[in-house]
Amino acid sequence: MMLTRVNTKKVTYTNPIFNTMTQEEIIAFQEVLLRKQLKYVYRNSEYYRRKFHEAGAFPEEIRTFADYQKLPIFMDKATERITQQESMERFGHPFGMHLCSSPDEICFTGTTSGTSGVPTFTYSFTKEDIEFLNRYIRHMLEYGGIHAGERLLFSHSLGIYATSSILFGVRAHNVLPVDVDVRAGSKTILQYAMMTKPSGAMMTPPLAEHLINRAEELGWNVRDLGLQAIFTVGEIGVGVPEVKKRIEDAYGCRIYDYLGELGFSCDSDEYYGIHCVAPDLNLFPNDLIDPETKKPVEIVDGVIGERVTTEINLKGLPRIRYATGDVIQVFTNECPGCGFKGRRIKFVGRADDMLIVKGANVYPSAIKNVISRFIPDVTGELRIVLNSPPPRVVPPLQIKLEYGNQFDKSLLGDLEARIKSALHTEVRLTPEIIWSEPGTLEKSLTKTPLFEKNY
Ligand SMILES: [Zn+2]
Repeated sequence: MMLTRVNTKKVTYTNPIFNTMTQEEIIAFQEVLLRKQLKYVYRNSEYYRRKFHEAGAFPEEIRTFADYQKLPIFMDKATERITQQESMERFGHPFGMHLCSSPDEICFTGTTSGTSGVPTFTYSFTKEDIEFLNRYIRHMLEYGGIHAGERLLFSHSLGIYATSSILFGVRAHNVLPVDVDVRAGSKTILQYAMMTKPSGAMMTPPLAEHLINRAEELGWNVRDLGLQAIFTVGEIGVGVPEVKKRIEDAYGCRIYDYLGELGFSCDSDEYYGIHCVAPDLNLFPNDLIDPETKKPVEIVDGVIGERVTTEINLKGLPRIRYATGDVIQVFTNECPGCGFKGRRIKFVGRADDMLIVKGANVYPSAIKNVISRFIPDVTGELRIVLNSPPPRVVPPLQIKLEYGNQFDKSLLGDLEARIKSALHTEVRLTPEIIWSEPGTLEKSLTKTPLFEKNY
């Protein structure tokens, strides 16, 4: 069943003062906040003082955004771990030497684990920070049609994880979270949802897809949940048209993709990326660097680069000139779906997942996007086989694919030719394809492992 919308609701900035500003005026507004924030972090954190000194600069000298981009990168995931280690040894707290408040004032901490398995306490907020951030979550819920007095199924890994901070915003919106830890399993999640009748849900796209099948097995239908909106975070999934359509058709509601407090996608059948609604929170997405050289990249429509984050309104543990490792594409033209005039972004991949094949940068997520268009001839599951450490790959790149459940195997040759042609045109890649039977590649509910490492 197709969703029919006559008019797509226009996304607005969370702070309405931006709605009448030009992009130049927004940047001028950000510069005022940036100057104030740089002085604040310099006064309050030994780490940031050290970084300014190493760069031979003082906060007072940074007047414009252009001045700011001349500073080197201050931090990335690896240096964040080192600074955490230092604060643990010297001060007995895990937040890092870039903490700008007293550790006593941190009222929420949320971690991310990353590849090394050592958690980083990146999302650590004061009470004031949380209150500031709540307004963005409330704005998104309201846009998605989730109003005060309603209930929302919240199914992520609960506890000391970054996503848990969103719960403050849900409660501040006077919406009751039905928070069922994802590790409780899909049957429990569905049971709670059936009983509490939430109007909205927050989960990852793979979980939303998995629940469709699990409900069927149990003799239920996710459409009977009566959801108005699903909000998903942290995956490229919704950017793949087939995934978005399959979830929306099954649940009979809109799916919105969001990036923490920074923005969300609009109420449109097509996916037009995350609309950046929070220029008063972060310089994002006006600050991009080349993933290899770490030099600034000029913002023009469609440009691709690594996202640098600078939190211009947080007081606890603000990230300043922090290279996130996320490679994004920025759109500066008006949203064709809803008419939002601000910046929009789409995820391209992780800087550390980038492969170099015959001198060209290749992102596994770009490969996955192409492959997903061949569903149901393929299942959509894939593995990229690496026989030596990345990023450089001796061609041809090997990709393991599952053909679809109903697919006639005698037609594999033709399917393979079509997939290779699409990859060649869109990703400039001529891979070797290794076929597997459906269901043989392990499915993950959180982060899909894309690589099979044979080294
Ligand atoms: Zn839009």
